[in-house]
Amino acid sequence: MPDSKQPLSSPRGIDIVENLADIHARIEAAAGDAGRPASEITLIAVTKTFAVSFIEAAYLAGQRIFGENRVQESEAKWPEFRKSHADTELHLIGPLQTNKVAAAAALFDVIETVDRPRLANALAKQAAKTGHTPDLYIQVNTGEEAQKAGLPPKEADAFIRLCRDKLKLPVIGLMCIPPQDEPPAPHFALLKKIADRNDLENLSMGMSADFDTAIAFGATHIRLGTVLFGERKPILPAE
Ligand SMILES: *Cc1c(COP(=O)(O)O)cnc(C)c1O
Repeated sequence: MPDSKQPLSSPRGIDIVENLADIHARIEAAAGDAGRPASEITLIAVTKTFAVSFIEAAYLAGQRIFGENRVQESEAKWPEFRKSHADTELHLIGPLQTNKVAAAAALFDVIETVDRPRLANALAKQAAKTGHTPDLYIQVNTGEEAQKAGLPPKEADAFIRLCRDKLKLPVIGLMCIPPQDEPPAPHFALLKKIADRNDLENLSMGMSADFDTAIAFGATHIRLGTVLFGERKPILPAE
């Protein structure tokens, strides 16, 4: 039964304070096992499909870095919230269409899904126009899945050079989403290898089901939705 007096920390009966504490304990453990300081790992709270009440609850629990996968949904949720919560950092973790580059560059601090020359060119043009660019990650389609965004691994080095050297874009890391039906470890290892040989420091990899493994393989940013906020309800068209 809905409880109107339900504390802000637990919209829909989900205890975000407790979930966040559990997640941080798991990050500590996975980092410890990997001989890494937990401070190297940043949690991105993925709030796609969740209402602002969930964002607020996570904020009150201490979370400051958030991820969304759609520009339009983010425009509805974030600008107003950020007026009073300016110390938040917002990452775009879903595919970006070139016609939404201006909106995305204005709203997001980090865009994790740069994956094709046309998009890189549009971002460079936008940067020239406004003098501002979000930090960028290049998304690599490590599983080479036809339906998935991201660049084929063999094209990564040349694309990173194009973005950094020719277009002067602030590329700071790589991102991947491993195939659902495969062990993720080889995908994380591949992303790490591409990052190392290109001197890229940040690796956004690891979701609710596999973030401990991602930390073992060098993740610096993990993107968690379900373990923090519960199951997503399909309030938006299916992804
Ligand atoms: C939805 C989403 C996540 C979070 O997934 P969970 O399994 O709920 O943790 C992470 N990364 C991307 C790119 C997503 O779209």
